[in-house]
Amino acid sequence: MRTLVVDHPLVTHKLTALRDAASDTATFRSLTAELVTLLAYEATREIRVQPTSVTTPVGVARGVKLARPVPLIVPVLRAGIGMLDGMTRLLPMADVGFVGLRRDEESLMAETYANRLPSDLTDRDTFVLDPMLATGGTLATVISMLMDRGAASVTAICLLAAPEGLRHVEEAFAEDAGVPVVVVTAAVDERLNERGYIVPGLGDAGDRLFGTI
Ligand code: URA
Repeated sequence: MRTLVVDHPLVTHKLTALRDAASDTATFRSLTAELVTLLAYEATREIRVQPTSVTTPVGVARGVKLARPVPLIVPVLRAGIGMLDGMTRLLPMADVGFVGLRRDEESLMAETYANRLPSDLTDRDTFVLDPMLATGGTLATVISMLMDRGAASVTAICLLAAPEGLRHVEEAFAEDAGVPVVVVTAAVDERLNERGYIVPGLGDAGDRLFGTI
């Protein structure tokens, strides 16, 4: 597994505003979308393309187009939905699958309650959207689900990551299964607190995007 911390002043600027407890829901949503688009730009650097050519008003230019089958974007319910707009802005042709996992508040383990993924992901680049890489349990489960279906690559886009979560995912995918696994994030924070929240983090991403229910 490879971790890419996107070190760019615009990314850090938007993340700083996102962390601010004074940012309201509307601001938090639009900042999330903007930040995801910036992270997605880096996250798609290795996306599979194939050569093509186009006729310009003046001649013929060689270029590339995205390879088929199209990539699959997988927002993790619920907070990952808040990242979907920012991602589809860059990949409007992608398919979208959904996975829902909830965290048992005592064991902090992830359990699956929704799964709308294609059964065959052969040759497909996949992009998991999960804003907070905290314990890493959720992300490791989703990555395994995608690998089991034959994904060509798995790239997770997380707004923030905790060192504990990165370690967990790294250990889970330490052996080279021939499928590149990359975590792209805007920052790696200090640690998790006793309730599994990232410190200093930004609080509960789902609540900040969608309100407390
Ligand atoms: N999920 C969140 O929304 N925030 C955290 O800090 C950790 C997990």
